[in-house]
Amino acid sequence: MISGISKPLLAVSILLILFIPAAPRSTPPSSSERMVMATTSIICDFVRSVAGDLWNVECLVEPGVNPHIYEPTPFDMAKAIKASLIFYNGFNLDAWVVKLLRGQNAGKLVRVTEGLEPYVIKIPDGPYAGREDPHMWMDVLLAVKYVENIRDTFIRHDPANREKYIASAAAYIDQLAKLHEWITVETAKIPVEKRVLVTQENAFQYFSRTYGFQVGAYFYSMVTEIEPSPADVVYAINRVKQLGVCVYFVEATLSNRMMLTLIREAGGRLAGVLYADGLGADGTGAETYIGMMRKNVETMVRELMGGC
Ligand SMILES: [Zn+2]
Repeated sequence: MISGISKPLLAVSILLILFIPAAPRSTPPSSSERMVMATTSIICDFVRSVAGDLWNVECLVEPGVNPHIYEPTPFDMAKAIKASLIFYNGFNLDAWVVKLLRGQNAGKLVRVTEGLEPYVIKIPDGPYAGREDPHMWMDVLLAVKYVENIRDTFIRHDPANREKYIASAAAYIDQLAKLHEWITVETAKIPVEKRVLVTQENAFQYFSRTYGFQVGAYFYSMVTEIEPSPADVVYAINRVKQLGVCVYFVEATLSNRMMLTLIREAGGRLAGVLYADGLGADGTGAETYIGMMRKNVETMVRELMGGC
């Protein structure tokens, strides 16, 4: 006898249990339960563009936050256990992703720069000299390769939706091809001698190679926990004087403290924000990769044509 429950109620409960249809055992998880992660907001945008509504995509590093020195939280680690795949850049950018690994997560890691080694540019100086420059997404043609890797990973992992991944990736790659064409046309408006980028981090090597710019000066060969030395700052000041440039760009994820030192020592002016390591916050127009690249190019054209 079950105490506290009347006999008629108990009978109804048993009947209800008997007539509830059993869930089929092979039910795939609903799309709200299917989750993948990506380290940076830019990779997140690529993954979302391919995944469509088939997956929830969680971004680890929020827009406007520097991914080089990100520290995963216990909350991130809990999410990593639930994620089916974890997309990351590699090449020294998001090495902290290994902290998310606890044995069981190792097989989930997907390096989206896999196979891009022939295009790698080395970091020329500083504490990471000789290692790979991670900022490959700044060349739109290499961003296309990121998207292809993401598409192929989803197809391997979820072959039932192969056609959907192929279609969504093709539509996005088409937009990237148009973006590349637009950047080529826009940047050609700047006279060659004015196409010199002075930035805080040396994050524009791939961009410069593809779109015909010169890397002018920078403080960080790569932003990490290692701060630039006074010698690095002096070197940047001398480079700017040598090149005769006076237009300096700040980056959305970095403080402009050293840029102000540069202006004090060499003259010139701050020319606006460029996005390199992450997307812009809401309202900036740089909330997507395509928006971010368009904003960057608009800023470069306006400011470099504007002069001192
Ligand atoms: Zn960077």
